[in-house]
Amino acid sequence: MATAIQHHAQPSAQEREARRQLAACYRIFDHMGWSELIYNHITLRVPGEEGAFLINPFGLHYSEVTASNLVKIDLDGNVLDGSPYPVNRAGFVQHSVFHRHLPDAHCIIHTHTTAAMAVSATREGLRPTNFYAAAFAGRIAYHDFEGVTIRPEEGERLIANLGQRRVMMLRNHGALVMAPTLPAAFLMYWILQRACEIQVATGSAGTPVDIPDEVIAVHQRDLAGMQLPTGPGVPDFEAMVRVIDRIDPGWKE
Ligand SMILES: [Zn+2]
Repeated sequence: MATAIQHHAQPSAQEREARRQLAACYRIFDHMGWSELIYNHITLRVPGEEGAFLINPFGLHYSEVTASNLVKIDLDGNVLDGSPYPVNRAGFVQHSVFHRHLPDAHCIIHTHTTAAMAVSATREGLRPTNFYAAAFAGRIAYHDFEGVTIRPEEGERLIANLGQRRVMMLRNHGALVMAPTLPAAFLMYWILQRACEIQVATGSAGTPVDIPDEVIAVHQRDLAGMQLPTGPGVPDFEAMVRVIDRIDPGWKE
């Protein structure tokens, strides 16, 4: 329809780096068994560019995502980079609410893994009954299921229910994690996923034991004191990048 020739600037060095990081992340999620057919999203803000985000091309499996086929979109889901791939705009609605309202939410991860969805579907939610779950005690927001998250008016309630927290269990639906960097979001998600898997396994092993509040306080205090100079999740993420790179280095293309 449009006859005007659209010129798309070459991606900046920052954008190219963000593309590589996010493409690697999709491959890692698939390697970990956290992909969901062609659905779900991990989105990353493009540094140095107001209101620009990278998202997976709709229709491709996470194992097919590469640095160059990620789609650059604005907050309304409009394609900015002339990508031939469509974007799951409905799926981006929820991410855009958080990207729009939370300046620190540079990377957002949403999954439907069995463990996360199972825990989200329980009345108790994530219980402090294991090492990993103890890190999240008092730090998880919950949002009741309202049907598929495509209606913008749900956004207000999502933001209100999240409050100051950055990890959310979408009841009956799945998990949502956001952080200022992709490696930080990755590590946070990994811990949450492990916590959920172990909670599900614990339920079939016997009667779960709640960790007492005073032990949780000590645990969370000591974890906070273990910050790495590289920033949270960096060595963890880099280790997993090496793993997926050995399997198929094509993610970089
Ligand atoms: Zn979902």
